[in-house]
Amino acid sequence: MELDSINPYVLKVMPSAMRKFDHDISSDPKIIKLTLGEPNFNVPDHIKQAAIDAINHNESHYPYYWGYQPLREAASTYYQAKFGYHYSADQILVTVGATEAVASAVKTLFKPGDAVIIPTPAYPLYNALTTLNELNTILVDTSDDDFILTPTKVEQAIADHPDWDVKGLILNDPNNPTGVAYTEEQINALAPVLKKNGIWVISDEIYGELTYGQKHYSISKVLPDQTVVINGLSKSHAMTGYRLGLVFGPSGFIDEIAKVHQYTVTAAASIVQYAAIEALTHGQDDSKPMLKEYQKRRDFVAKEMAEAGFGVVHPGGAFYVFAKIPADLQMNSWDFVNTLAKEYHIGLMPGDPFGDNEYVRISYAASDEALAAAMKAVKQLVADDSAQTT
Ligand code: PLP
Repeated sequence: MELDSINPYVLKVMPSAMRKFDHDISSDPKIIKLTLGEPNFNVPDHIKQAAIDAINHNESHYPYYWGYQPLREAASTYYQAKFGYHYSADQILVTVGATEAVASAVKTLFKPGDAVIIPTPAYPLYNALTTLNELNTILVDTSDDDFILTPTKVEQAIADHPDWDVKGLILNDPNNPTGVAYTEEQINALAPVLKKNGIWVISDEIYGELTYGQKHYSISKVLPDQTVVINGLSKSHAMTGYRLGLVFGPSGFIDEIAKVHQYTVTAAASIVQYAAIEALTHGQDDSKPMLKEYQKRRDFVAKEMAEAGFGVVHPGGAFYVFAKIPADLQMNSWDFVNTLAKEYHIGLMPGDPFGDNEYVRISYAASDEALAAAMKAVKQLVADDSAQTT
């Protein structure tokens, strides 16, 4: 087929390099994978039962496109109690995963030619969406600030692009791939510069329940009129395959995004919405046992990687360690993950698709055995390399 009949902005976007790498190494059954952000826990039984009940009660009809009213009410109460979000049911839209939530928010807020800041390293979805929506993307490297976006960096990004209308910021806290969680002080420091410049924040807080030793602090608390919050059940309740996301925002905004959502996907699946009502009504503690496990694994992986000579910035949330490859290895992230996969049968994610080719990402949403094997292999690779070069 002639590609000149395809929208050039679609041609510009590449299929996810992360998923391709994961797929490629999956053909070797010997490889232990710590690649995708996929919780290795099952959906809690009470939530599964709610989905089964919904099927048996023939809840098979078109749901209301905003999401069922009891679900939006449950979300309002749940997230108010968890993180102090101040959104009533009519300021909440139910989407097909956080992915659709971010995509619909980008489409609703920005028009072609607007500029949007993405702090990097970043979840690749964001850059793909700004490209697909014909926006100007400003990638702001945060690696020299321990992966935290500072007000100075925002000012600089604006100053560096005097001809662009900087309209937005896509913030991800806690962060994939770096694992960093912003403190209250860091968020409060960021808000004034965004307010002053009229920059809307799409705040992806999908890992908000997964923080270790500090409570998640949402930017919506200090910038309510310019923030759209993204959340959902994929990570907190290990429901990635159910595809249930949520958008929280000012009333006028929600009216508009609801149209984008309606004319794209119609609604999240009816059965999943019933499961979500159960999760948000009786599943307040569902993430606790997972969190305990994740924290133990985080401590283990961060320690082992540091011992192997990698640079590790304290990962306060999510379930990733983003580790800087030791300079002595003279390997970029692809060299490292390809060698580790081929010769040591361990799959880690290269940092390159996230925007930094000097790092690798380890997802510790995996068994203790898998993590122990991976850390042993990483140390072995480093030892073998240094034996070769001396
Ligand atoms: N946002 C971030 C930062 C993620 O890491 C992920 C998944 O890994 C998503 C969004 C996608 O969430 P969902 O599966 O609910 O679409």
